[in-house]
Amino acid sequence: GYEPRAFDPRSGFFGIDFYDFSQPIDQPLTRRFIVRHRLEKKHPRRKRSEPVEPIVYYVDAGAPEPIKSALMEGARWWNQAFEAAGYKDAFIVRELPPDADPMDVRYNVVQWVPRSTRGWSYGRTIVDPRTGEIIKGHVTLGALRVRQDYLIAQGLLPAYEHGATPDPRLEQMALARLRQLAAHEVGHTLGLAHNFAASVNDRASVMDYPHPYITLDGDQLDFSQAYDMGIGEWDKRAILYGYQDFPPKTDEAAALNDIIRETLAMGLHYISDRDARPQGGAHPYGHLWDNGTDAVAELERLMQVRAHALARFGEANIPPGTPLFELERVLAPLYYGCRYQIEAVSKLIGGVRYSYALRGDGQVVAEPLPAEWQEAAVAALRQTLLPEFLMLPEALLRQLPPPPPGYGRDREAIPTQSGLLFDPVTAAEASLRHTLSLALHPQRLERVIVQDQRGYYGMRMGPQALLQALHVNPENYPDKGMEGALARAAERVYVIELMHAAADADAAHEVRALVLDRLHELEALFAERLEHEQTGPYLRAHTRYLASLIEAFMDEPEDFKLPPVPDMPPGAPIGCE
Ligand SMILES: [Zn+2]
Repeated sequence: GYEPRAFDPRSGFFGIDFYDFSQPIDQPLTRRFIVRHRLEKKHPRRKRSEPVEPIVYYVDAGAPEPIKSALMEGARWWNQAFEAAGYKDAFIVRELPPDADPMDVRYNVVQWVPRSTRGWSYGRTIVDPRTGEIIKGHVTLGALRVRQDYLIAQGLLPAYEHGATPDPRLEQMALARLRQLAAHEVGHTLGLAHNFAASVNDRASVMDYPHPYITLDGDQLDFSQAYDMGIGEWDKRAILYGYQDFPPKTDEAAALNDIIRETLAMGLHYISDRDARPQGGAHPYGHLWDNGTDAVAELERLMQVRAHALARFGEANIPPGTPLFELERVLAPLYYGCRYQIEAVSKLIGGVRYSYALRGDGQVVAEPLPAEWQEAAVAALRQTLLPEFLMLPEALLRQLPPPPPGYGRDREAIPTQSGLLFDPVTAAEASLRHTLSLALHPQRLERVIVQDQRGYYGMRMGPQALLQALHVNPENYPDKGMEGALARAAERVYVIELMHAAADADAAHEVRALVLDRLHELEALFAERLEHEQTGPYLRAHTRYLASLIEAFMDEPEDFKLPPVPDMPPGAPIGCE
């Protein structure tokens, strides 16, 4: 029969748990097993063995080509992990036979589901609650989001410069993403959780959320490494833990612990959803949609790729005969193209290196990041607040018309406050809000304050210096011109996000005090600025506006209605998940 396998928080598996009152009083009441399919070797003593019964997955025959082939190929990558665990032909992918019902519990399926709204893909399982045995794996792939991936590539390349046939790299990248996606969701149905730290280990897992890795090679963008191919090192280690069929008389607990010890010795990191997903997250490696080992260096690199593509962006990015309004839709993922890496960098501020450590396993437990890393993160984020980063070329603005009849802006659109027309200042405000709401997240500020108290910053960046570094002062820009307008937007969003933190009832008192103190400092700065004779009319109006907001806020912080700042379009998931 099926043998449950012990859960280990370092294994990368989902688990089930239940109270077992038959346990001795000195043993934990909660029993924990991983979820996994039943898989046994015919010859567990041999180096390589066929399974008693293979795990078979069936792919939706209704998925159109070339998508279906990409899905089958990606799902089959898992066989590499089972081979690494000494299995032969243990993981098989077939097309779903015409007479089979995808809801039939006897079939593990990968379904391709058309849906009209944005949404995620899912890898769900039906599990025996007593043992953790997976009875059925059911992957649901949303047919819509691969187009987000295509859109990202379309923003980067003048793909239609030679006419209606696009640069083949658009489709190649989208299909590469679909292989990844099929492997990812099937991975969930094999029992595996996300590993958002895999990008730090050279894309060690299909269970991460990948961001296309596009490089700048001289004057050309190189798409050849956009998405990784094949199963990752981490995935092989996880399958080994969950699916190894040990020879009889093996001490399984010791053997499982050896597997984990080896995985740790390989330097593979594992960080999952609860750590990586929240905006206030603290882990320097656990990020969604990021690349590389050094989040700051990757942001700087990505900023160069974005600047390269923005400088070349124009009508060759859409097919001939398409309404020019479509350009705005293609611009959205490019203009906000650094958003996930910005999020990754923000987590270094007040960041803490930690792991799912067990007593005696030698893993890092809870080490604040070196102050110089944190400083570098703040400096990198500041770059994304400057007019140089937010500015769009005037020639491009003249190519962005309002939507024609039959077309319109949907929730994926760049926000505008100028009616039907594209609005470069509002577009920038959404980007500013993204960076500043992350950098000024109350949980992050609380960690910075505490790390400062614990003496981790020494003479380097403390909380006050952090708040100052995020302030772009429009006095340093001309009153008239887009640079000045964008610098004022940066200060405006900064003040509003400070008020958000100060009014946040869930924020620590020290955070609210620190931020309130900064707002008082700004009041004084604004009063001084208004006395300067050379303050131009735009800056004067802007400064009076912010001063009056702060005054009203200070009067009644509880009842004050914070002025809204537009959000950027949702963005994720890129090509499902
Ligand atoms: Zn997932």
